[in-house]
Amino acid sequence: RLFVEAPLAPGPLALSGPAAHYLVGVMRMRPGDPVKLFDDVTGEWLATASHVGRRDLTLDVAERLREREAVPDLWLLAAPLKKGRVDWMAEKACELGVARLVPVLTRRTVVDRPNTDRLRAHMVEAAEQCGRTALPQVAEPAKLAALLRDWPAERALFFADEQGGAPALEAMRARPGPAAVLIGPEGGFDDEEREAVRALPQAVGVSLGPRILRADTAAAAAVALWMAAAGD
Ligand code: SAM
Repeated sequence: RLFVEAPLAPGPLALSGPAAHYLVGVMRMRPGDPVKLFDDVTGEWLATASHVGRRDLTLDVAERLREREAVPDLWLLAAPLKKGRVDWMAEKACELGVARLVPVLTRRTVVDRPNTDRLRAHMVEAAEQCGRTALPQVAEPAKLAALLRDWPAERALFFADEQGGAPALEAMRARPGPAAVLIGPEGGFDDEEREAVRALPQAVGVSLGPRILRADTAAAAAVALWMAAAGD
């Protein structure tokens, strides 16, 4: 199962570069072998290899298997973490169904220039593996204050606060509709940031339980709870 950038349509599709390397070099595709493709626009298609070269191949895109999915309207706002942990977080966010990942820069954020191309690549791989037909967007990193200043009126902001808040599942069930979950860095938010978030009318402070979770665990838990509350 492979993501391709170009919008798919019935007919021949020539591939080279990393996609061809994956199909020819890694998956050892032969003429006649099937592959599922998706493009984030038209949905998922069944294709068959018609020509396989050493570094390129041509697929015959035949039948549309699924329309592009309707993506649950949840954004994950999370402070970037060290490489392995933020990669894991992006992968799990994609598998669990988020629409958008927003790296948030806070006072205690340790990585102030997250590699958004790498995060997107992890999400593409996760989408290929988990059967998504839509890719989450990866936003440019933004400062917490700027995000709060321009926060959309209709979008709830579930602020995961290890110092306490409403039980997350109940709070999320009580506030259906477009939403975001906000997860702090490993050192947490400072008091001023916590106050600024709480002052936002759309913010709801939520607890993920009595234990302090690592930020990547907290992100996966909060997204899973929102999906459960929304029935997605
Ligand atoms: N400031 C804390 C400390 O050093 O003791 C730890 C912060 S925690 C590792 C990182 C982030 O995960 C927090 O900012 C919060 O958003 C989220 N988090 C972790 N455990 C949580 C919980 N039990 N309830 C809600 N949020 C939690």
